[in-house]
Amino acid sequence: MAGDESKSALRARAARIAATLAKLYPQARISLDFKTPWQCLVATILSAQCTDERVNKVTPVLFAEIPDVAAMAAAPVDKIERLIASTGFFRQKTRALKGAAQEIMARFNGEVPSRMEDLVTLPGVGRKTANVLLGHVFGKPGLVVDTHVRRVAYRLGLTTETDPDRIEADLSEILPPQQWTAFSMRLILHGRLICVARAPRCAQCALLPDCPQVGVKTAARRGPRPR
Ligand code: SF4
Repeated sequence: MAGDESKSALRARAARIAATLAKLYPQARISLDFKTPWQCLVATILSAQCTDERVNKVTPVLFAEIPDVAAMAAAPVDKIERLIASTGFFRQKTRALKGAAQEIMARFNGEVPSRMEDLVTLPGVGRKTANVLLGHVFGKPGLVVDTHVRRVAYRLGLTTETDPDRIEADLSEILPPQQWTAFSMRLILHGRLICVARAPRCAQCALLPDCPQVGVKTAARRGPRPR
């Protein structure tokens, strides 16, 4: 947790930050395109080290050729690799997609599971991907910690951790579960637009009154080291 700030003061500040973000980004939602839980899982796996825009170009063709879990479980590896090649790390991602599909067929009757403890047993699925599914498909609280959440939460002093799982634990302690999904989506947007990695635009930032970075020189403000 952040420095000498008491837990109740930290919760109050987090609530103000969440309220400001809600005003700034009322419609914040994931920018990946999908229609089914399986498509959400595929798109999220493909989005690792790749832009959402690129993933959204690849998935319509992929889903036309390999439409569902059963088809992915049976699809030839070279066909999957060819279809997703432009998203990068395509061999690793192909292993994850095919492996996840085979596990879902074998253990979950062809349905993407809706519990964190089941999702994280699938190949290529960590807590970040699982939280995307929980929050955006299954209507459960899902606190997604990506590179933007990691950086902005650290700069805001909402966590002193750099490990994504610990950041998730810190944020989930100071925010009510019903805010987790929207808060993380809004923090991602804020990280893309204002609290950018190299030179955060503090002068334009509505969170400035609640940010401990006020008065900190730019170099020191950059946040945790990239992972
Ligand atoms: S005031 Fe600066 S460091 Fe703090 S959240 Fe805004 S842009 Fe980021």
